[in-house]
This record gives sequence, structure tokens and C-alpha cells, in this order.
Amino acid sequence: MSSRIVLVINAGSSSLKFSVFRVDGTETLQLVERGQIDGIGTRPRLHVKNATGGVVVERTFATAEVSSIKDAIRLAGAWLRERFQQESLLAVGHRVVHGGVHFSHPVLIDPEVLAALEQLIPLASLHQPHNLAAIHAIREGQPQVLQVACFDTAFHRTHPQIADLYALPWEYYQSGVRRYGFHGLSYEYIATRLPQIAPEIADKRVIVAHLGSGASLCALQAGKSLDSTMGFSPLDGVPMGTRTGALDPGVLLHLINQRGLSGTDLEKLLYHESGLLGLSGISNDMCVLLESPEPRAQLAVEYFVHYTVKQIGALAAVLGGMGGLVFTAGIGENSPLIRARVLQACAWLGVSLDAAANARGDPRISAAGSAVSAWVIPTNEELMIARHTLALINNRETGYVD
Ligand code: ADP
Repeated sequence: MSSRIVLVINAGSSSLKFSVFRVDGTETLQLVERGQIDGIGTRPRLHVKNATGGVVVERTFATAEVSSIKDAIRLAGAWLRERFQQESLLAVGHRVVHGGVHFSHPVLIDPEVLAALEQLIPLASLHQPHNLAAIHAIREGQPQVLQVACFDTAFHRTHPQIADLYALPWEYYQSGVRRYGFHGLSYEYIATRLPQIAPEIADKRVIVAHLGSGASLCALQAGKSLDSTMGFSPLDGVPMGTRTGALDPGVLLHLINQRGLSGTDLEKLLYHESGLLGLSGISNDMCVLLESPEPRAQLAVEYFVHYTVKQIGALAAVLGGMGGLVFTAGIGENSPLIRARVLQACAWLGVSLDAAANARGDPRISAAGSAVSAWVIPTNEELMIARHTLALINNRETGYVD
């Protein structure tokens, strides 16, 4: 019997990322290959690596050959069919940024679901159209393939209402202006890892710091999201590579009314020109800033640490204390310096650092006897999507509906 695979897709404005997981007999998922088509519409390039990081393929294409997500799906599909012709594709799982109020779990895509997801485009106009373009392209090319949508917002639907509100007139809340929260697939994955890696805190109050190019923090109570730092959009909370993090709305009024910035200008400024890049004037890459002697690079790092610590304090207050703090994503997983700076500033919360464990990147980086434990847990959003996709397909086959 041919083995079975699950394909995970993350479609963005100029890139299409995909991961292939093999399903073994016991229904566990094994990453086989991970690839990306980037430079869609500019300098298209396909590169694929195997599970241990070995290069499988690297190829460039003429701009006209891959000018849209649809072209990228066609290209990736042809390449994958050729490469995995012996395997049978069980389903495709997609990362979809917005599930709105109603999608609190992953869902099998049908025309009705797709129509509901189209309705959410105004809530995430920068990301949702690309996610949906990939789904449409597969439906057109391979209508028989089962597709599953997994949402960045879904994990946060356990928030109490108070954490979903803005102090705006009520009709705005009713029409969808809410704190949705993002990075949910990452937090959900971490929540599933806690019982194995850090069982003593899995049922307690935990703050997870997802610190990557995009960055946010989440307050978990017994593995459920209680609050998070991102709100209506992925702009709120801590500063990011090129995004502002929290900003006084009065600044926006000033920029519109006094400086004449348009909506498009603001979008560019807030999403692409701010954060670490805007502050430093040098780079959005934390590695570059940490190595730079420039004062503004150092200031950007200070700012990042300061506002991360401030948000930890805020979330600890919401939780009424914390039992553990988890670092994840590019900066959280790889920078002992940032972890140390954050943890030293959180000493008042009862966490003390084990410097050697932190330098080694051990799973546990707090000292023995620290009242609050600190951890490094690599995230894996693709695996979370693959697990959801497989579970939905299996439930469908057995007739079980959650
Ligand atoms: P995303 O998935 O949101 O694109 P990542 O989670 O990959 O982002 O995180 C990217 C960030 O992680 C970049 O700012 C990068 O500089 C940072 N990073 C990666 N490795 C290190 C490291 N060793 N030290 C400091 N920062 C690092």
C-alpha cells in the first residue's frame, strides 16, 4: 500500500510555503520536506529542503511563469505530484489568518465555509485574500482534494468577553471590531507540548512569549488562552521586525489630520517601516541589531526588551500570577541574550535564571528553586496544522463530529 501524506500550505503576499508530512500506520506525522516559492511576481524561486535541512531543489523561474499565488500553487503542485507520485495525498491543511468570531476550530472547506471566509477579508485584507487564493487554486485544479482551514485566531476564542472588547460604542463590537488575537496555532502547539516538556506548569498559569519577526504574548490558564497582546490586527502589543506594536491612536489622528497620511500610507508605515527597523534605521533582523555597535540598534533592542517585559507584567496581572514563562519563535528560541534580559527584568515576579542552561538553550532555563519556571520550547505551527488536518479527515471517515 502506498503511504499517505498531508500537505500544509501557508500562502502570503509574495511567498508560498509548504510542508509535506508522511502519516505512518499509527497516525503519527513525520515531516518529509519543507519548501517555499518566494519572489512571486518579482524573482520567483523554488527551494525545498528535507527534514534534516539538506537541499532537495533550488530553482529560479521567469517572472511571468509565477506571477500569482495561483501560478505558485500550480508549480508547487506539479513538483509535489512528480516527487511524491508513489504516495496518496490525504488532504491539504491551510494556515488561514482570520476565522472571525465563529470559527473556533479548524474546519473542512466546502463552498459554504469558503463564502464565510471571504466575508472576513475586510478584517484581514493583507493576508486573508492570499490564504483564500491558494484554496481556490487547489479547488480549481484538483476539486477532489480535501482541504482544511486552520486559523490563527481560533485558539483565542476561549477569551472571556472582557478580553475581546474595545471601549468603543457597542455597535463596533457587534460589527466585528474585537480583539481577535493571533499566533494561535503557535500557542496551541506550545499548550500541547507543556504536559510533555513542563508537566509541572501545564495546568497552571503560563505566559508564552512568541518572539519572532511577528511577536506577541499569550496568557494561558490550564492550556487555554485567556488573553493575548495582539488584538484586532497583528499590529498591537510588543514591537516587531517592521510593525509598531501598541501605538497611541492619537498618533494616527495626528498623522492623518496634520500630516495628511492616507490609509495606504499608514498601512505601509505601521506594517512595513516601523518596529525594530523603524527604530534602528538599520534592520528588522534581531541578529543584525544585536551585533551592531550603533546606538540606535541598541535602543531598538532595549525597546523590544522593555515592552516585552511590560506585557509580561500586564498578562501576569490578568492571570493573577504566573507559574511559568515560555519563550518560542525565532528570537525566543535562539537568543540567550534577549531571554536573559527579559528574565532578569522579571525577577520581581519570582523567576531566577540559570545562566548556563540559558546559554545552552536547555528546555528549562530557570534556576532550581525558582518560584516561577522559565522554558524554551520550539514552536511548530506546520505540525499543528497537519495534526488538525489529519484529525478532521479521520473524524470525517469515522463519522465523528466534534
Ligand atoms: P517569522 O516566522 O515570524 O518570520 P521567526 O520566528 O523565524 O519569524 O523569527 C525571526 C527573527 O528571529 C528575526 O528577527 C531573527 O533575527 C531572529 N533570530 C533568529 N535567530 C536568532 C539568534 N540566534 N539571535 C537573535 N535573534 C535571532
